[in-house]
Amino acid sequence: MNEYDTEILKSILGSGFLFTTDPGEADIVLLNTCSVRENAERKVFARIYQLKHENPGLRIGILGCMASHFKDKLFEQKSLPVDFVAGPDSYRQLPEMLARSQDSGFDVTLSEFETYENIFPFREKGVNAWIAIMRGCNNFCSFCIVPYTRGRERSRSPQSILQETQQLVRDGFCQVTLLGQNVNSYRYEDTGFPALLKKISRVEGLKRIRFTSPHPKDFPSELLTVIADNPGICKHIHLPLQAGSDRILKKMRRKYTRQQYFDLVGKIRDVCPEMVLTTDIIVGFPTESDTEFWDTVDVVETVQFDSAFIFKYSPREGTAAAKNYPDDIPETVKTERIIQLNGLQKNISLTKNRAHIGETHQVLIEALETKKSKADVQGRNDGNKLVILTNNDYRLGDMLNVRITGATAHVLKGITE
Ligand code: SF4
Repeated sequence: MNEYDTEILKSILGSGFLFTTDPGEADIVLLNTCSVRENAERKVFARIYQLKHENPGLRIGILGCMASHFKDKLFEQKSLPVDFVAGPDSYRQLPEMLARSQDSGFDVTLSEFETYENIFPFREKGVNAWIAIMRGCNNFCSFCIVPYTRGRERSRSPQSILQETQQLVRDGFCQVTLLGQNVNSYRYEDTGFPALLKKISRVEGLKRIRFTSPHPKDFPSELLTVIADNPGICKHIHLPLQAGSDRILKKMRRKYTRQQYFDLVGKIRDVCPEMVLTTDIIVGFPTESDTEFWDTVDVVETVQFDSAFIFKYSPREGTAAAKNYPDDIPETVKTERIIQLNGLQKNISLTKNRAHIGETHQVLIEALETKKSKADVQGRNDGNKLVILTNNDYRLGDMLNVRITGATAHVLKGITE
């Protein structure tokens, strides 16, 4: 979402500014920030001081969720060398703020309506384009800062999303990833998320559609049918679990039980057995007992996710959990739990990936080199798994039939047929 917002920002700032990726060349640095985890915030504070130390004349702006979360600290506490603060709904004000030569600027108002609908993001050429179909969240999970920093849910019109998708295809993109804090809640007049997906799947020239993330509490059956029936919609669902114990799920305000989660996974696999499932999990939520942690382990063992992002709980100031529940699980216990769960998930991912050896997958080429080798290219299969193969004059956006010949827990390797 932040990458997408940066593209929106570049478009809003437009021709009045020149962009550089080298902070040494810049007069102004805008840091587009995330507040979901404490570590991300710490990095931003360190970066502000580092930038100011390297160039005392630099003007620095904090944008995004941290602007909303720390508005008082960032602006009223004059010791922080920050000149501009703009929340996620205030980007239209930025050109004016930056144009005032020496003044500071501050706007963190959250809007009920802002979707940046009529702004076409400034994108570098590529294979995948992000499209935010909605902004904000109404769910107020007790650990999460997003509803406070990004405001209430509001959806963009299907017409504007379709126009953007068609333009992206004309610009050479072949995949779109639809973004929303909870895409299942997408609604614009009488169009819900399944109907929107169906409309987008008819856009000529678009090879793949991905989306992230749906909430397990309100996953409509119709959505599954739309995914199963449309070859262009990728067979991958990121379904955040967060915890496997009913008591902890209730304290997290997730509004589903472990049994309902199991039932949903069963339904998904009945309709579409090849669906790749990935998830997010938090360990060490306040009062989580050993037994309750093992309930999460049990769900991971039972569901057999293809991969999982596993985090230690950290309280986010202003959330219900931070106000009501002391962070009482010792750091050492959180660390033991995350190691345990990561180890289990790694074995599951490896087993699942090895099972693909010998199969043929359609791979969309997304990069003409890999981190380790300039002689290899990388792409993703329909299930969003990374696939590496030797370069053979392939181009970005090529869709190749690749026979899988090897696997680790994180990557598949293959050769073209
Ligand atoms: S659904 Fe819950 S975790 Fe996701 S953004 Fe909304 S409040 Fe946060």
